[in-house]
Amino acid sequence: MEESSMTQTTSKIKKIGVFTSGGDAPGMNAAIRAVTRAAIANELEVVGIRYGYQGMINGDIIPLHSADVSGILQQGGTILKTARSQEFRTPEGRKTAYDNLKAHEVDALVVIGGDGSFTGASIFSKEYDIPIVGIPGTIDNDMYGTDYTIGYDTAVNTVINAVDKIKDTASSHGRIFFVEVMGREAGLLALSSGIACGAEVIIIPEDASGAEDLKNFLTKGYQKKKTSGIIIVAEGDKAGGAIKLAEKVTKEHPDLDVRFSILGHMQRGGTPSAKDRIAATQMGVAAVEALLDDQKSVMIGFQNDKIVHVPFNKTVKAHRPIDENLVKIQRILNIW
Ligand code: ATP
Repeated sequence: MEESSMTQTTSKIKKIGVFTSGGDAPGMNAAIRAVTRAAIANELEVVGIRYGYQGMINGDIIPLHSADVSGILQQGGTILKTARSQEFRTPEGRKTAYDNLKAHEVDALVVIGGDGSFTGASIFSKEYDIPIVGIPGTIDNDMYGTDYTIGYDTAVNTVINAVDKIKDTASSHGRIFFVEVMGREAGLLALSSGIACGAEVIIIPEDASGAEDLKNFLTKGYQKKKTSGIIIVAEGDKAGGAIKLAEKVTKEHPDLDVRFSILGHMQRGGTPSAKDRIAATQMGVAAVEALLDDQKSVMIGFQNDKIVHVPFNKTVKAHRPIDENLVKIQRILNIW
């Protein structure tokens, strides 16, 4: 018997719209490619909506064929562009967006983005009868209901590549470097990359022990057991970030050679890692299958390496808690 890659379905969906929204993340293109090709494999038409919800309002909608998503798997950013749309937060904006989707005969959506994008999707699908499935794309890996978000692995590798270089100069000069890592209120990117590059101290918003670890390092570790130091600081930490901390330590210890480095937006770019390409591809196919299975208002996620469907209203209400075991490991390895 001939095998088919099509999902057995009674779905009425004929045309899917795919878009990226909020902050970009490496691997979004791999997800766009997977959604497009999985939809075509199931005899659906596909359109891309450029610039997220704003493009939906502006009618910036383009057909996507298999060839249109060739050669994008390995590219960072998003070929569909992204935006933050104030207009979509208004009922009038959402009405215009819906009218445009109807004019293009789009009857289901896949949104690739973060919790803000899923909040918008949840509101939109309650107001209008359009099934929407989400794919989590953010370097922060802080979304409730999934162990993984697209972009995280690439961002961790970008941070450790940068910190390895900073470490060389810190070590040569005997300096202490405060390195600020992205993640807003979430400290997982800082924690994981700090562990991966052997940081002496990691300061994150979710755990207060970083301040004590810093004090211990400055009084008992530096110049006694270590001749230089890397202090990773999550951008959302309560002490105010790497610059403020570096200033404070310089004031309190004028004899120390202290510098800071803000890694910034380089963390959001670059060619996606193997893990991000594979996760994005799995999630993209799963999103199309979920729509064909009549699912709506769910985010595709991974839990224990298995694909799961998490309702939008659950995933947008909370953030994923920090992995306490990683905090413990960091503290075990850095005792002065
Ligand atoms: P990131 O994690 O990178 O910030 P995100 O998806 O959380 O990504 P947001 O800027 O919070 O990014 O949200 C993306 C877009 O989703 C917003 O610009 C807006 O258009 C839409 N959106 C967010 N919240 C709402 C809301 N309450 N009502 C309608 N639309 C919303």
